[in-house]
Amino acid sequence: MIHGELHQNVRQYINGRWETSATTGVSANPSDTSEVVAEYARADRRQAEAAIRAATEAFPHWSHSTPQRRADVLDRIGTELLARKDDLGMLLAREEGKTLVEAVAEVARAGQIFKFFAGEALRGGGGENVASVRAGVQVDVTREPVGVVGLITPWNSPFVVPAWKIAPALAHGNSVVFKPAELVSGCGWALAEIISRAALPAGAFNLVMGSGREAGQALVDSPLVDALSFTGSMANGERILQVAAARRAKVQLETGGKNALVVLADADLDRAVDCAVQGAYFSAGQRCTASSRLIVESAVHDAFVAKLRQRLKTLKIGHALERGVDIGPVADEDRLAQDLAWVDTAREEGAEHVWGGEALERATAGHYMSPALFLAKPSHRIAREEIFGPLACVLRADDYDEALALCNDTPFGLCAGICTNSLKHAMHFRRHAVVGMTMVNLPTAGVDFHVPFGGRKGSGYGPREQGRHAAEFYTTVKTGYMLA
Ligand code: NAD
Repeated sequence: MIHGELHQNVRQYINGRWETSATTGVSANPSDTSEVVAEYARADRRQAEAAIRAATEAFPHWSHSTPQRRADVLDRIGTELLARKDDLGMLLAREEGKTLVEAVAEVARAGQIFKFFAGEALRGGGGENVASVRAGVQVDVTREPVGVVGLITPWNSPFVVPAWKIAPALAHGNSVVFKPAELVSGCGWALAEIISRAALPAGAFNLVMGSGREAGQALVDSPLVDALSFTGSMANGERILQVAAARRAKVQLETGGKNALVVLADADLDRAVDCAVQGAYFSAGQRCTASSRLIVESAVHDAFVAKLRQRLKTLKIGHALERGVDIGPVADEDRLAQDLAWVDTAREEGAEHVWGGEALERATAGHYMSPALFLAKPSHRIAREEIFGPLACVLRADDYDEALALCNDTPFGLCAGICTNSLKHAMHFRRHAVVGMTMVNLPTAGVDFHVPFGGRKGSGYGPREQGRHAAEFYTTVKTGYMLA
């Protein structure tokens, strides 16, 4: 793909065929809003239901395919993603606004995820042979596919989040209806296009692009969809859970975070600042794992804030494809308006402004904002609610105990980090932070592709994504007894 190429043929993929829709939408480049990245078909409820029927019909065929065939399909998809990480990374940077370095890394990780699940297809989700309590009886526990799975994803990681749902779903023999966020329809289509050439039976994988209210809601409501995996905002996740669980669908939610990075007095402060910059501001803070609360022990509070402020001054904000840019634009006009409104909220509620928080002009018309830093109190809204943009706050803690209490004082529980040279505190934190993932002397926003990903409390519901644990969601357990 050449930089600037317009994707016009971005259509639904239903039952092995590419389909147009009655209406279309466009996605624009957030680094340069004059550039349209993709013109895409927008599915209505009827078209989404056709995709669900196709997946239902394909399920018996795909679920009985050999593990080797499934492994081959996934391996092929992974190979192509890895081979094309540069051009697909370019598409991702243009459509979503991540820097090119981050975007290429994301596509590569998506490729690695498909390759990992090629192996998982052969492992079969992990069954068990167990001894029976009865003489002459054999017992085993096997895992079977769940059925038709609906996969609903957000705009902020348009290759990797779909990959960690689609790959295990197919590996374990489920058929798929994938609904990406509209903002990144071009990326969703590019991924589907690769999958469409991987020799799956027609209907085993379907792409429906469109709004959450129409295309997404059709998946949530349909009695033919056996399992729903949703990543997005907490509010939408809760609504989806209520409807889907009421009809007894299996539900998995990954919903946001308000992640803490704790900095103790004995930490290497330069490393702590690196962790804060990468964790809070890279990808313009638009990561569920962003460390938007920096909880700093009093003894180093002022020194840490001064160092961080210095670093923020040096960051280069600009076009996602420009060499040397640290932070690209935020994803669209609405997000920029919301982020700037959070800056106003911070000032109104009395948080002390340290740096940034302004809309920036660049050579191209994009949604640019300087990374914002405030000193806040735990009661402030900027310290409690997910912002999902380049704004972080510092909270002061008297000691480790107070820092841990602040870390856990949130409705979210995705991940938490600590910077310290104390093994005792690091180990205690790993055990007592009420989250799904902990990081010691590492940024919160940086995870491996082959281990569980997910959170607790308001950040998640149901089994974890990624790694071997993904089988818990994408399979159902069957216990078999047999007279030997
Ligand atoms: P969002 O909730 O607005 O949308 C997510 C997806 O849900 C989109 O595809 C959207 O079209 C669809 N949707 C919306 N309403 C729906 C409905 N009623 N029925 C079915 N589908 C519906 O979220 P977003 O703005 O795209 O993404 C940002 C959010 O995602 C943030 O809260 C972020 O923290 C979260 N996120 C979480 C993780 C994680 O793994 N924890 C990862 C990435 C992003």
